[in-house]
Amino acid sequence: MTFISTRGQMPARQFSEILIDGLASDGGLVVPETLPTVTADTLEAWRPLTYPELAAEVIGLFATDLQRDLPRLTAAAYAPNVFPAPEVVPLTRLNDSLTLVGLSEGPTLAFKDLAMQFLGQAIPHVLARTGRCLNILGATSGDTGSAAEHAFRGKPGISVFMLSPQGRMSAVQRAQMYTLTDPNIHNIAIDGVFDDCQNLVKALNNDAEFKAAHDIGAVNSINFGRIAAQTVYYFWAWLRTTDSLTPADRADLQLSFAVPSGNFGNIYAGHQARRMGLPIHRLVLATNENNVLDEFFRTGVYTPRSRAETLSTSSPSMDISKASNLERFIFDLLGADEFARRWPELEATGTLDLSDQQPRFESEFGIVSGTSTHADRLATIRHTAEASGVIIDPHTADGVTVATRINEPGLTLVLETAKPAKFEATVVEALGENAPELPAEVRRLLELPQHTVDLPDDADQLRTYIDEHTR
Ligand SMILES: *Cc1c(COP(=O)(O)O)cnc(C)c1O
Repeated sequence: MTFISTRGQMPARQFSEILIDGLASDGGLVVPETLPTVTADTLEAWRPLTYPELAAEVIGLFATDLQRDLPRLTAAAYAPNVFPAPEVVPLTRLNDSLTLVGLSEGPTLAFKDLAMQFLGQAIPHVLARTGRCLNILGATSGDTGSAAEHAFRGKPGISVFMLSPQGRMSAVQRAQMYTLTDPNIHNIAIDGVFDDCQNLVKALNNDAEFKAAHDIGAVNSINFGRIAAQTVYYFWAWLRTTDSLTPADRADLQLSFAVPSGNFGNIYAGHQARRMGLPIHRLVLATNENNVLDEFFRTGVYTPRSRAETLSTSSPSMDISKASNLERFIFDLLGADEFARRWPELEATGTLDLSDQQPRFESEFGIVSGTSTHADRLATIRHTAEASGVIIDPHTADGVTVATRINEPGLTLVLETAKPAKFEATVVEALGENAPELPAEVRRLLELPQHTVDLPDDADQLRTYIDEHTR
């Protein structure tokens, strides 16, 4: 399997190469040259597999140059000491039409662990083969950084430099990152907001000389290795949902997925699974008040927002003004030639008008969308607790809100993207004295001492810090 860039200027590469580099060398996003397909017979052959075994099969369709090592890598990534839930990804029924897919059973209580723990095994493996070192530079608003640090802590040949906005993360997000004491983890708290952190990362990434001299790599949500690992749980959830059905009922089932979305990484994996042949009826995209994706899927017009227009909401991991992974979907939609003709309009005018293509979003790709507000989240958290006895986090509540409103026929699987303990303040606002107590391990974590390196919003000082702390 070879990989190309959406922008068409990157020589074809192998999975182990794109895993380390993250972004394509021409500034585009990495995509498989041809998408593998999965037949109904293969799906049935996969039914007896455990989660790590299934992950080796699905990821192996992309990582053909790592195939022999994958069973060992996925067994370690999804081991019981990392994901204590026996199924790794458990399903929880809410009512006759909604079921939760538990993606947040990992060490940092959010779905980012599922992909990041795989990278935490696969990247050191590839580096060991090539004798390279890697310095992972990233920016986080909370969940990506904590997942990356827990996946790469103590890994030989790897250091993590993670920029986070000083004082702007939830207490649990801060504790998950800042209490780590591993010498290869550098928590750099920037005096600024998330976008300032991201712009600093961009500035250093655009400095080709610095980047090469310091072996800088990225594990942000555009890394195709993460998309490959996220594709697995769509297959898993379909298999577990259909386990008890007769073959005839399986064929009749209309199964949809609802996905709380920000950077379009999670739902892109579902779109990919559907194109590979997984029988998904609809992909229901849910945004919060930052509704740039909902607007695109309803109108066909994509207008990324400026930083000043991005709202701080109570589902903060979806506060995204520019959905990086959407470039991959638009590439799939238009094909390479038309993409090359149309994509530059976005840079030139700030808008890409694909309204003539909009009907295809649902008819061909099965994507529908909706948006949710703070009041919706509170009402949905309350109603779900009362009606099903299940406490959900505010991001998952965006998914449940939109899935309930759109009400697709058959069954909708809502991806649970975080545990309520990670975003406790909003859960307490919704449930009051009925809110659950924080789990004991989270309370213990909140009491540990925290360490950060505090830097101003200044690329030169960041360069100096990284220079002084790399081999
Ligand atoms: C990252 C994240 C999202 C958004 O996922 P995307 O892949 O960026 O669309 C939703 N919920 C939570 C809890 C997250 O951490």
